[in-house]
Amino acid sequence: MGRITLDKVTKRFGDVEVIPPLDLTIEDGEFVVFVGPSGCGKSTLLRLIAGLEDVSGGQIRIDSKDATDLPPAKRGLAMVFQSYALYPHMSVRKNIAFPLKMANMDQAEIDRRVDNAAKVLNLDSYIDRRPGQLSGGQRQRVAIGRAIVREPSAFLFDEPLSNLDAALRVGMRLEISELHERLKTTMVYVTHDQVEAMTMADKIVVLQAGVIEQVGSPLELYHTPRNKFVAGFIGSPKMNFIEGETAAQHGAHTIGIRPEHLTASATEGLWKGTVSVSEHLGSDTFLHVHDTGLAESMTVRVGGEFPVRHGDTVYLTPEADKIHRFDEKGLRIA
Ligand code: ADP
Ligand code: MG
Repeated sequence: MGRITLDKVTKRFGDVEVIPPLDLTIEDGEFVVFVGPSGCGKSTLLRLIAGLEDVSGGQIRIDSKDATDLPPAKRGLAMVFQSYALYPHMSVRKNIAFPLKMANMDQAEIDRRVDNAAKVLNLDSYIDRRPGQLSGGQRQRVAIGRAIVREPSAFLFDEPLSNLDAALRVGMRLEISELHERLKTTMVYVTHDQVEAMTMADKIVVLQAGVIEQVGSPLELYHTPRNKFVAGFIGSPKMNFIEGETAAQHGAHTIGIRPEHLTASATEGLWKGTVSVSEHLGSDTFLHVHDTGLAESMTVRVGGEFPVRHGDTVYLTPEADKIHRFDEKGLRIA
């Protein structure tokens, strides 16, 4: 079991309140991602759950037992960090077995658990190698293996992929998602990367300055962001925001329209502008359009072969039912 409940959990460092009272429930077996800009309190929140930091107020329950004052080792959770901190002189097998050895576990049980973790992580053929003989992705898998053998009720990941190059990150993202499918153990995963959040999470928790801005499934956040912050943070490229006359016509202070919900035409459309930059990705092209009188720059997603270049005139038209409306406080208007 791995149900984690935060009840008015608060954290202060000296006089600075980094996490104002916060409520959150993580269900057993759920893959929950904490996402938000750097410094918003993601790691602090994870460390509070792990017991690596003391709360300044509130209660943490794990499987309905009060865990607020339990030391980390007694919480039944396993943490995987960005820097994997493997022992260079030990084999993969010994590295994975290390926490069990430290706990004086019976050797037969250690072997069983290490063999099982190695199999789950496809590390069988590397089991006798040392970390120096492994790729970055394999090392990260060893670090995850060390968490798996503890058979925790939940895994806590703090930006585990940030040190890996882009291609490897995509691969490991899939591996961790597959691992969750297989183990069905609760995972709490911290990242500043909204693409990781969108692709991996059952439930995303968007944080800003220690405050939860919204909790929901990836598509809930994409389709119905509660406010401008979430609207701008989730989705890539970012949503375009328009204020003034045009927004007022829609009964809003600000309207938002995603790049993929605008169509572009060289000959006709609602808003006229000038192409500033055309980014060709092959599958898609992103046009950055100036001089629309709407916003400094509008981003539009068009097909991979859209034939315009710098200085060309282009007309943009939004899909009417894909316009998001926000009030003067930045809150969504239903
Ligand atoms: P994130 O992981 O989202 O980047 P952190 O949780 O690391 O953010 O930090 C949140 C805020 O708390 C930051 O302003 C950071 O400077 C502050 N902070 C984190 N740890 C400490 C500490 N040990 N002492 C004082 N301030 C801290
Ligand atoms: Mg952090």
